[in-house]
Amino acid sequence: MPLLRSLKAPGNGAVYELSLGAGLTCLAGYLIDALPEAARGAAPRAPSAQVAASYRPTPHAAAPPAEIGPNYDDDRSIRKTADAIASYRWVARLDTVRHSISGRGTITWVNPAETPANELYFHLYLNAFKNSKTLFLRSPFGAGRSGERGTHYGFIDVKRMSAPALGGEDLWKHATRHSPSDPDDETDIRVPLPKPVPPGGKLSLEVEFEAQLPEIVERTGYSGSYHFVAQWFPKLAKRETDGSWAHFAFHPQSEFYSDFGDYDVTLEVPAGFVVGATGQQRSLKRENNRQTVEYSEKGVSDFAWVAWDGFSEREERISGTRVRLLTPKGNDTAEQTTLATLRLALPHFNAAYGAYPYETLTVVHPPEYALNSGGMEYPTLITTGSRWYTSFLGVRDLEIVTIHELAHQWFYGVVATNEHTWPFLDEGITSYAEGWAVEQFYGGGSLMHSSLASVSLLSFTRALSAARGKDDVVAKPAREFASFGSMGGLVYQRTATILDTLGRVYGRAELAQALGRYARYYRFRHPGPPHLIAAIREVLGDRAADNFEQALFERGSVDYVARALQSVPETEPSGWFERDAGRVSIEASTAPESAWLSRAVITRHGSLKFPVDVELGFEDGSRVRKRWTGEGATRVFEHRGPSRLVSLNVDPERRVTLDDNLLNNVATKAGNDPELPCELVRFVLQLSLWLAGP
Ligand SMILES: [Zn+2]
Repeated sequence: MPLLRSLKAPGNGAVYELSLGAGLTCLAGYLIDALPEAARGAAPRAPSAQVAASYRPTPHAAAPPAEIGPNYDDDRSIRKTADAIASYRWVARLDTVRHSISGRGTITWVNPAETPANELYFHLYLNAFKNSKTLFLRSPFGAGRSGERGTHYGFIDVKRMSAPALGGEDLWKHATRHSPSDPDDETDIRVPLPKPVPPGGKLSLEVEFEAQLPEIVERTGYSGSYHFVAQWFPKLAKRETDGSWAHFAFHPQSEFYSDFGDYDVTLEVPAGFVVGATGQQRSLKRENNRQTVEYSEKGVSDFAWVAWDGFSEREERISGTRVRLLTPKGNDTAEQTTLATLRLALPHFNAAYGAYPYETLTVVHPPEYALNSGGMEYPTLITTGSRWYTSFLGVRDLEIVTIHELAHQWFYGVVATNEHTWPFLDEGITSYAEGWAVEQFYGGGSLMHSSLASVSLLSFTRALSAARGKDDVVAKPAREFASFGSMGGLVYQRTATILDTLGRVYGRAELAQALGRYARYYRFRHPGPPHLIAAIREVLGDRAADNFEQALFERGSVDYVARALQSVPETEPSGWFERDAGRVSIEASTAPESAWLSRAVITRHGSLKFPVDVELGFEDGSRVRKRWTGEGATRVFEHRGPSRLVSLNVDPERRVTLDDNLLNNVATKAGNDPELPCELVRFVLQLSLWLAGP
């Protein structure tokens, strides 16, 4: 990864960089646990029979077009807005003493399926925090991002839900928990309907609810007077076009999936609190010691908000978007860093994945005691966060989290894949987009830049991927991973490294084109894995797409090994030979060798087949490049020349960042020249020094 290529390297750059990358690989096993976090359609080619059993095309989006095509290389054909399927209108009052919310309003739903709906499914996400036995909190090992479990619990009670068009009775009286795998959970609720809603039919529901916020352990809740309010209202699950419902109990490793809609939310909070929320502020009224703020937005899939009396606010228009930044009062460094980051990242993502489709972006930097609400994405609102000391160490954590959450606006926000079933489609692509962006903005010091060391984020990502990347299949549902750490190594780091390798091997511009077309064409369409694979195939070709699919679905891996090198003097033939004139004897020449025949043997372990360059180094200092398509398990190169072969370097630019073991990419043989550096000895020494160093 960029790490390998960008580290400042004295002397033999490639080897030094290699040692650093390998060193990071060794450390990755220790580091990963400490990391903070996270259609139906026939693909042009069906997945192979060996793909993971869990691989099923998602049954909702239209089949991918045979070709997305150049119309989606820019924004001329991009969809302007989403269809409003699930829309919400709320009036909500926040009690900052009890940390509770009283809400009432209307849900308007259009049945998007081809079959009538006899029932609805709702997610009551706040019930994940109801007690220590919920699916979300009960793991004694701390299964979520933070691993914290909390002691001040939260919940949501739906007081009434009626549909005037269906007679006005309280539908919630018939609501039942629906978590086949988890009967105690209260986050997945089925509500039968007295009359079916026909395909395309509209249903309006009048709803009242009471929500008790938990103390923040993960994403949502309160901490002191800081209230970050997410997953706070009864949320419709998504009905697919085939009539199935994508509903699930809220699992600590899973995020969300829902339809787009129009939101209008009026919030009543104490005067003196600064409110930030999804969408655009439409009005603000102050009365006595309360204030009422109205926010609305069209074509979003959720609504989150924050209220705190400790924010300072700042607004700036960046690349056509009105950015509102809420930072703890007095934290000018965070404010400046975040704004500087957004000035780089917004235009970058607009150009790469299509123009950001909303008027506003709200960026919330939580106070340090509420960092568990940080590092999260919501429609038109992201949360960041950092520790006070990291900037002194030269660690760019605030820049990176800002860029990561911003990138989600394109993949979670508008492409809007099913994060429960296919977390890699969001977190994986987002992690790649983040890594590639920071590489361009900050170069080799994209993770850390100080007088002690300069480390790039993509190298770090590569190291984590190498440490955990073969533990399991990448492309599978969030709840099936053994832990959040395991999901991090696979869904985040492995996917990012797979994409990074595709970019380095098949062309960074080509990968950018494929992802750009994918992000633009599938805007507001909820695609699945076949659509992404088809977009890769369209631009990068069959071999790239096959590698991509195998790496994601079949634990595909690769390790190139420089296996052997030999040189023998090339001599004239000697011995007895039959000629027309009869048998002749030719003596072996005793002249000094003037030519050498050299042989290099390279093997490829694993099922992925990437083309690689192979560099042959000779005693006289000359180097020769060969190319291997990667087909077959072993490749032998022969070369005639005036000097002996003394070194062999497979993939010298380290394009295949997925390569499991970079240590075995180099093989050497010391020549007669005492001055000739033994690259392997050098390599091991440098690696040892680095590991022992500060
Ligand atoms: Zn993420």
